[in-house]
This record gives sequence, structure tokens and C-alpha cells, in this order.
Amino acid sequence: MELSEKIEKIVNEVEIFIQYGVQESERQDALDFLQRYKDDALALQLMRTFYSSLPETHEEAITRISLIQKKDDIFLLGLSTARHSYLYLATEQKALFLGEFGYEIVEPEALALFGYPDTKEFFEKYPVLINCDEYEPVDVTGAMSCPVCSAAVGAYHLLGCPVEVCPWCDGQFSRCGCRFEKLGVEILEDDEALERLEMILQEKGRIPYTREQCPSYPSGTDE
Ligand SMILES: [Zn+2]
Ligand SMILES: [Zn+2]
Repeated sequence: MELSEKIEKIVNEVEIFIQYGVQESERQDALDFLQRYKDDALALQLMRTFYSSLPETHEEAITRISLIQKKDDIFLLGLSTARHSYLYLATEQKALFLGEFGYEIVEPEALALFGYPDTKEFFEKYPVLINCDEYEPVDVTGAMSCPVCSAAVGAYHLLGCPVEVCPWCDGQFSRCGCRFEKLGVEILEDDEALERLEMILQEKGRIPYTREQCPSYPSGTDE
């Protein structure tokens, strides 16, 4: 399964858990919050774990994910709702509930991994979650620059880049026949032809790089 499909599947699952598990007054907030992290595999695992097994019978929406510490690809995260906060371990594959923040932790070995021999020492260092940075969503599916010619979002590709979209036919500009047709030539041989091509391209309006052009961007239409 493609990464983008996997991510989409988790987003759908989390949406369903929210519909059934979160009280109506907080449901929209929960869905909005999910949107913010919809491309972040790790946050999605965390949300799926949280909403599929809501601690006790609280029906609350997540309002904040705090980044407490990180070791290799394992994240120690705080998860807050309006009235509670919890401690989790998460990777892009899985999230584990450790306990309610500030209380006894079921598996203190998890904290030892981050250099805290016991729960007490950990909570002395982190008495409240709000002092920790917010966990920022990572966009794993949208590249901020062209993967081939490195043009930034909004900038023009290098001429000849296979990712560039043709402004005449919306096809792949390096493959479609538009450049020959517009110049009235069979092949592009000399610099003069290339210069003319650049000129008529500018006149027509070149299409700058957007994340949607990135071959790994989830589109659902092609492939
Ligand atoms: Zn490019
Ligand atoms: Zn074309």
C-alpha cells in the first residue's frame, strides 16, 4: 500500500472514532484538529490510539499535542483535552498509552528510555505540559520543492524538468509535442530554438511548481 493510501485510511478511521466517541459539542473541534495533522503519520497513530480507546469514559476532543522528548524515531508526547492530559509514546507505526499526565505511570521503563529512572524525577522536570513545545505536523506526502530540479513551491522549474506541466495541454511538458508544434519545428536543435521556446512559454504563462505536481502527492486520479 502506498504511504498516502495508508495515511488516508488512518484519517478515515480516526474520523469514525471521533463520530462515535467524542461528545457532540466537541466533535467539530476534534475533526478540525485532525485536519491539521492529516499528513502526519505519527500524530495520526496517536489520535487513532487515543480515540479508539478513550481513557475511562471521557468523550473529549484532543486540543493539543506536546512534544516532551524525542529519541531516534520514538517520541514522548503529551496529549491534552479540555480537562485532562495524558502521556504517550509514539512512532510512525504505533502509539502507546503510558498513563495520565502527572500520575503514576504504568510502565516507568518507557521513561528510562529517555533518561528518567523513575516517574517522580520525570514529573519534577515536566510538571506541566504547557511548557513543552507543541508537536508540529510533518507533511510526509507534499514536497516543498520539486524533487527533480529543486524549484521551490511557486517558482518555475528548470527548463526541461520532467515535472513541469505544459500550459497548453496540461500534460508533461518534457514529453508532450506542444513545444515542437508551437515552434513549428521537428526537433529542438540550437540555442536559438530554446530561446524562442522560453519566450513563447513566458507569453503563454509557465506553470510554477506546486506540491500537487510532486509524483508522491496523493491524487487518487492517476497511477
Ligand atoms: Zn522541476
Ligand atoms: Zn503540451
